[in-house]
Amino acid sequence: MPNPDDTKLSKSSNSSAGVDNRASIMASSNSKSTNETARKIFKILLSNPRIKVSWVKAHAGNIGNERADQLKKDATQHGQPYSHTKLPKPYIKGLLRKRMLEEWQTSWKNGDTGRKIYNIMPSVSLRPTNWIREDVIFFSQHGPFPAYLKRFHLSDSEYCSCGGIGMALHYATECIYTVSWHMRKPAPNFEQEWLKIVANNLVSRQRIHGIIKFISENRDLFRPP
Ligand SMILES: [Zn+2]
Repeated sequence: MPNPDDTKLSKSSNSSAGVDNRASIMASSNSKSTNETARKIFKILLSNPRIKVSWVKAHAGNIGNERADQLKKDATQHGQPYSHTKLPKPYIKGLLRKRMLEEWQTSWKNGDTGRKIYNIMPSVSLRPTNWIREDVIFFSQHGPFPAYLKRFHLSDSEYCSCGGIGMALHYATECIYTVSWHMRKPAPNFEQEWLKIVANNLVSRQRIHGIIKFISENRDLFRPP
């Protein structure tokens, strides 16, 4: 069915209106039409009883109809939504990439999952990170840590076999089984800063890799007694 939006209503000498689309006439004679344009036309017709509506054959030389056609052409050729197509492709690509990154950044910033990683990497980027599996495990703290296993109901105890609470930080700084990779403990309330520094330091990252590999290969050693 033709869209009443395509209706070209030409008002000439305040007495007759030419409409080149029968469906539009039907729609605009219905005061309850859901189409906004049809309702507008209905209102105009209602308040101007001297306008007569008649159907004119489209593109048959009616001056009003021709003018409406021209306006429609102008709008589609020079109107806003089409002006982008005249921009060079690389520019459009760059624009879309920028918009995509902005959207990604906003949802990363406002999301409620992955917050541990967010605190270390607050900015999104299309460059791949140099993180390996061990980095992801340590910094997300989703791995073979008793505290994590307890939280996800995979274990009854959050304690390490050494007696401390088995969190990632415990293994990096205090567990007696991982002494050879230990780093200096963060000051209270500076855990976040500490994690950022460690994530950006290759020597510290090597230690992290060693810890995670060791725990993964010796799961039984870390199980609470
Ligand atoms: Zn321990």
